[in-house]
Amino acid sequence: MRRWNGWGDDAVVYPLPDAAGRFLADRLGPATPPRDAGFDQTVAAVPPSRLPAHPLVTTDPDLRARHARGQSLPDWIALRSARIPAFPDGVAFPATREDVRDLIAYARESGARLIPYGGGTSVCGHVNPLPGDAPVLTVSLARMNGLAQFDETSHLATFGAGITGPDLEAELRARGFTFGHFPQSFELSTLGGWIATRSSGQQSLGYGRIEHLFAGGRLESPAGTLELPAFPASAAGPDLREIVLGSEGRLGIITEATVRVSPLPERERFHAVFFPDMERGTAAVRELVQSRVPLSMLRLSTPVETETTLILAGHERLVQMLERFLAMRGAGSGKCMLLIGFTGRTALVQTARREAIGIAGLHGGVRLGGAAVGKQWQKGRFRIPYLRNTLWETGYAVDTLETATSWTNLPKLLGAVEPALRTALLAVGERVHVFTHLSHFYADGASVYTTYLFRVATDPEETRRRWQAAKTAASRAIVAHGGTISHHHGVGIDHAPYLAAEKGELGMAVLRDVCARFDPGGIMNPGKLLPPP
Ligand SMILES: Cc1cc2nc3c(=O)[nH]c(=O)nc-3n(C[C@H](O)[C@H](O)[C@H](O)COP(=O)(O)OP(=O)(O)OC[C@H]3O[C@@H](n4cnc5c(N)ncnc54)[C@H](O)[C@@H]3O)c2cc1C
Repeated sequence: MRRWNGWGDDAVVYPLPDAAGRFLADRLGPATPPRDAGFDQTVAAVPPSRLPAHPLVTTDPDLRARHARGQSLPDWIALRSARIPAFPDGVAFPATREDVRDLIAYARESGARLIPYGGGTSVCGHVNPLPGDAPVLTVSLARMNGLAQFDETSHLATFGAGITGPDLEAELRARGFTFGHFPQSFELSTLGGWIATRSSGQQSLGYGRIEHLFAGGRLESPAGTLELPAFPASAAGPDLREIVLGSEGRLGIITEATVRVSPLPERERFHAVFFPDMERGTAAVRELVQSRVPLSMLRLSTPVETETTLILAGHERLVQMLERFLAMRGAGSGKCMLLIGFTGRTALVQTARREAIGIAGLHGGVRLGGAAVGKQWQKGRFRIPYLRNTLWETGYAVDTLETATSWTNLPKLLGAVEPALRTALLAVGERVHVFTHLSHFYADGASVYTTYLFRVATDPEETRRRWQAAKTAASRAIVAHGGTISHHHGVGIDHAPYLAAEKGELGMAVLRDVCARFDPGGIMNPGKLLPPP
């Protein structure tokens, strides 16, 4: 069963290796396991519903509690302390687009607000009801999750927007195809959520981001239905898909999407290369991307992330042997790990591997003989988020943030975000362990993905203050140093105050006008994406 207050299936546990526990105690101080509230306590806090009865709406407190929050760190703090300022007044599970239209009409008549809900994996407060006088109805797309059409000739597939990653891939794999969109939240996130947040999968270098994969679909909005035909390309004026992408539930509910799919690759391998330092690693990945070597993934970890990843891997003696081997070849204490993904036809994979290893070697990259590290990564790629549960239960809070910038600006941005986080809790005498990798590469730049850990306090409000201090420091550093406030997590509540810095006054006014055109009554997911005027 899905965990109500953490990540994933509650039968799956990712134990913290002993060495990792010692490492964190050394970096952050010893931790005290927090005393979390139970599910009963949370359900008991659910107030009576303010919604009138409707056959599609359930007001069951258990379901309302399970749909009250997403997966951001402040969401976890709220859930685990049973301090949730607002719950949805009801949850609906429409099965057809007519049901969705019916719910929009019901919301208009009853004065309710609607929150579209995919997998609830948002890490920016996207699905949280906000306190207020209007009742809130969360609309889960969980039942709109089927394959509607498959066009093998054009490599297009049409799905209900509520389909999750594993179900979508299973449908395609049965036909010899893949979507190739693998966000780390793959297990629980949905097609509609990916589109509504402009998501990016781990192999975006090969398959493209969601905006490249989203060919068309349908949005049901309070103002009517928006049909987006799936053309391979079109010069018929501005592309309306672009305003649905990243709309975060503000314009309406995406009920169906047509996506571009690819044949299953003949071969797929992930290899690790180690560089003596970040400068040489960065130069190598830039050259790899700019010379268009056909790769499906690149992920370059800073020295601290490399060290942390190897410790978290848990195989102490193997890691020691590996480190000795690398040090003898010039990749010592400042080493950076690069993971490279090769995906496609066998001949293409072989050529790409030769090219990539050659370019990496020119920058001092040390290749490991086998593919053990790459295989290990591939095996655990969707398991890593489970570590968040264990770390929290040990007494360490984990959060991640991400941005993107040009190659030219990258050193400046990296040099600002990490120190901002590292020093954010000095005033309260706490340390922050910070590490970063570069991922999602483009010819003109890359995304910067930073993870930070700090100790959970005894008082949940103090834990929240710690998170807020770190998040604010990092967000300000991103805005001040030329990064976007989000490369793939979206805006939600947490990033809304920083949006105007990159959209500008006119840009913000245009976004408000678009929302008002689709949703004149302001019933769709208020308070998200655009801060209240
Ligand atoms: C452990 C973890 C790892 C993650 N890794 C990645 C990653 O690698 N890449 C990445 O891009 N993101 C990642 N995320 C963030 C998150 O998974 C993405 O934002 C994802 O796209 C959200 O999808 P969802 O179905 O869970 O949407 P939800 O969280 O349910 O909703 C997100 C937003 O989309 C809107 N929405 C959802 N469905 C619809 C619909 N059908 N119509 C209209 N609006 C809708 C909601 O109203 C809300 O505003 C990660 C999150 C976690 C917790």
